Amino acid sequence: MPPVLTNFAYLVASVLFIFGLKGLSHPRRAVRGNLLGALGMLIAVLATVADRNIVSYGTILAGLVTGSAIGALLAVKIQMTAMPQMVALLNGFGGAASVLVAGAALFEARLLGGAFSLQFTVASALSALIGAVTFWGSLVAFAKLQELVSGNPVLFPGQHALSGVVALAALGLAGWLVARPEAGPAYWALVGVASLLGVLATIGIGGADMPVVISLLNSYSGLAAAATGFVLDNKMLIIAGSLVGASGIILTEIMCKAMNRSLANVLFGGLGAAPAPAAPGQDVYAGKVKAASAEEIAMLLASARRVVFVPGYGMAVSQAQHAVRSLANLLEARGTDVQFAIHPVAGRMPGHMNVLLAEADVPYESLKEMDEINPSFPETDVAIVIGANDVVNPLARTDPSSPIAGMPILDVDKAHTVVVIKRSLSPGFAGIPNPLFAAENTLMYFADGKQAVNGLIAALKEQ
Ligand code: NDP
Repeated sequence: MPPVLTNFAYLVASVLFIFGLKGLSHPRRAVRGNLLGALGMLIAVLATVADRNIVSYGTILAGLVTGSAIGALLAVKIQMTAMPQMVALLNGFGGAASVLVAGAALFEARLLGGAFSLQFTVASALSALIGAVTFWGSLVAFAKLQELVSGNPVLFPGQHALSGVVALAALGLAGWLVARPEAGPAYWALVGVASLLGVLATIGIGGADMPVVISLLNSYSGLAAAATGFVLDNKMLIIAGSLVGASGIILTEIMCKAMNRSLANVLFGGLGAAPAPAAPGQDVYAGKVKAASAEEIAMLLASARRVVFVPGYGMAVSQAQHAVRSLANLLEARGTDVQFAIHPVAGRMPGHMNVLLAEADVPYESLKEMDEINPSFPETDVAIVIGANDVVNPLARTDPSSPIAGMPILDVDKAHTVVVIKRSLSPGFAGIPNPLFAAENTLMYFADGKQAVNGLIAALKEQ
């Protein structure tokens, strides 16, 4: 295919990506947006495969078949609840791909022995640096979300100084690669040092700050791809990578706002101070926790005029979204006003609750964001917290030494009655106790989320 046609196809694909992203910004247009993005990707792939520079279709086919087989297997095998760590891992693979492609391009250029342009060498260095940080940072994020390692920040004396030295070493190696691209081990040495930097930059962040690091890694994977686009001089990769990088940064800013942290704080790794030694659970809860049965809660619900559901990670674990939808329908049929309060970092990935509730066909209009729903909690008869913990923890307001200090929360404690559905008094992701469970107006319903909601439905039907 002549280059002019390839570039035209890339232009069409880029426009489709942009319209696709625009569509994804609203749930009603999201499916169409997704299709437009996929169509853009199909055009981009076909145009690339038709490029006259392709060396071996056999190798491409082998890669496509292997990659598709692994992808299909993962799609079938991975539980919905493991989606967040899966997304973290896929970000990482993007970074690793950039490292390998730029490394191969450098290897080929050395073999051919031509002159190295500044664009090529700087972009190779950036691919190695950002790609390796993304890959290793994502592996750490995956391990934390999969609970292979502690979700808390891992901090040790001199960590910031060590990170500074490693970052300087990475910059030095990048400089060496740009100055002497024709020979030497600078590229893979840079990949090694940047890998260490990726681990150091991510292990220090943990607890409730993880959403910020995940969206930032998402952005990095796009930047790494854009850098590799400059290595290959491929306009499609530059545009697609920049779009991912930019949207990742926007998401990071949204997450920072949700956590009340500054972006500078994230970028320079000042996040995630070690959690203050949490007061032992018994001190917070001793003698104050009131457990209730499905029948008692159903009585409350039967007379409630306004009920707000507050979903969290436990709803995802128990896959209770369909049961929640049925309970909401039942309440609405009895004339109760029902809404859903969505905290931006509830669950384990951005938009986690929106995706689950959309899957259960909860009308989009019933989903209210934090700023919108918070003023209405004092007029709410029953707030049903299902599997949420950190996002409703009042310590964020009252304890400046708490790892979630300053994080805006859903003000469920201001509702007339709070019903908390979870299996025990165990802490959430941030690992701290929650005084809400011991509050005067809180009733605990200890059970698996789905079973509990089904129990409430049965009890309410008997009312
Ligand atoms: P939390 O992690 O704070 O709490 C979840 C609660 O769900 C637990 O206390 C657990 O209690 C309960 N639970 C678990 N399984 C079940 C079950 N089967 N049935 C009922 N309850 C269950 O969740 P939140 O959504 O409130 O907060 C999200 C946290 O995750 C925040 O700290 C956030 O920063 C962090 N995070 C968010 C990311 C994002 O992008 N959204 C990414 C990474 C981290 P019990 O064991 O007693 O049942």
